[in-house]
Amino acid sequence: MTITEPRVALVTGGSRGIGAAICLELARRGNDIAINYHSNAEAAEAVATQVRALGRRAEVFGADVGVEAEAERLAEQALKAFGKVDILVNNAGIGSAAVGRPLVVDTTIEKIHWHVRTHVYGPLVLCRSLVPQMRSLGRGDVIMVSSIAGQSLGPNMGTYNVAKSGMEALAMTLAKEERQHGIRVNIVAPGLVDTDMGLSLMKFTQGVEDMRTLDARMPFGYVCTPGDIANAVAFLVGEEGRYITGQRLIVNGGTF
Ligand code: NAP
Repeated sequence: MTITEPRVALVTGGSRGIGAAICLELARRGNDIAINYHSNAEAAEAVATQVRALGRRAEVFGADVGVEAEAERLAEQALKAFGKVDILVNNAGIGSAAVGRPLVVDTTIEKIHWHVRTHVYGPLVLCRSLVPQMRSLGRGDVIMVSSIAGQSLGPNMGTYNVAKSGMEALAMTLAKEERQHGIRVNIVAPGLVDTDMGLSLMKFTQGVEDMRTLDARMPFGYVCTPGDIANAVAFLVGEEGRYITGQRLIVNGGTF
């Protein structure tokens, strides 16, 4: 096995929320970070500054991962800047509230397409662009940040459910195809997380303005933090996770 250190991680949607926490946790554990954002360049640069303060290299790349040419360009730019990408974290996403949570019978192709291109086509294009070069690195890792929605398939979430199910199907297929090349592919499936997306879902469905009002009814007395998800990702792509592939790790405090 010829693993060259430091490893390089490309994190999509690394400017805010879960993605930003993943960038920082992976940097803390010695990885250099390619940070992707969609529209919030300033936030992405702030994450890069924090990564550099941890002694790791960070570069920032704007791209809408749901647009094929932009996702391809993102992969090319990351490879050009770092020479390789060892870890791909497909985290970028949009929530069900962003399309108004329609019933299936009220869902338009446009709404479902927005979710599918972001959660399925983007990860697909990035895997297509980056997995082949991982084959010669000794080890490669792909993480799909999905959602418990992928198994609960709750009402008013058809667009999101279809997209996350597609993302998970892609991951499980890729895991089987690439194991022979030393590439691990795993899914991390959060429940509610304290981010902009989490809050907008709670506002839309329950009129919640402040996440802290939900803490007491959560499994461990607080709403899951982005750092809790980042720890799960870092475990899977780290030395501890080297014998784990084709798995779906649910991070929601347990459902009993
Ligand atoms: P968030 O706070 O809304 O942040 C979303 C991130 O994705 C931002 O960095 C945003 O970039 C980026 N992004 C959105 N669309 C993009 C696109 N087309 N191309 C590139 N980047 C894009 O969301 P989050 O809560 O951290 O969610 C991260 C992931 O976790 C998502 O896949 C989501 O489905 C999943 N998840 C979240 C929850 C939750 O409760 N929060 C629960 C389960 C699963 P800009 O900053 O530039 O806009």
